[in-house]
Amino acid sequence: MSEIQMALDALNRKGFNAVYAANAEQAKNIVLSLIGENESVGVGGSVTLDQIGLLDALADSGRAVYSTKLAARRGGDKDEMRRLGMTADVYLSSTNALTLEGDLINIDGTGNRVAGMIYGPKKVIIVAGRNKLTKNPHTAIARIKKQACPPNAQRLGLSTPCAAQGVCADCDSPQRMCNVVVRIQWPPHGKEYHVVLVDGDFGY
Ligand code: SF4
Repeated sequence: MSEIQMALDALNRKGFNAVYAANAEQAKNIVLSLIGENESVGVGGSVTLDQIGLLDALADSGRAVYSTKLAARRGGDKDEMRRLGMTADVYLSSTNALTLEGDLINIDGTGNRVAGMIYGPKKVIIVAGRNKLTKNPHTAIARIKKQACPPNAQRLGLSTPCAAQGVCADCDSPQRMCNVVVRIQWPPHGKEYHVVLVDGDFGY
């Protein structure tokens, strides 16, 4: 059985609604079909969502979209976007890692992204490329520290050792991005929880 199928089976066994997408276009269309025309959308910081064209597609659809990335691009206050995202109908994010046991593992600096994945919006949609798959929570943390944090810190222009040297030094930098570590094992109560697993490499 492929790792993608193993992860999908584990997620669905636990009550997530997990589906396969063959490519970025299919993933985008699946996500758009899951969001009502009048539903507002909070968005966690994500390279994946941008790469598959979801941010612009959502914004152009006329839905209210609360995204710091869109705010930077189209105007708007980032803190206000984070706050409004917590009260949206839908929360859309990627995940730093997805285990073959069906766990979502994330490390966050500000905390709004992982908060939106757990509480607030009643519907959560996660989009993840196959490159986010990893065996278990331990390998997930190692993966995030090695493959996600350094390029993310560089992308965000942070003054951290991982940005400068490309490896984690478990720093005490004021701009440290590893402040909150969250393992979502099962869907939180009262949520409709979707995971779209894309057969391609997206994000870090
Ligand atoms: S602890 Fe510091 S150096 Fe390590 S990944 Fe996080 S921000 Fe980078």
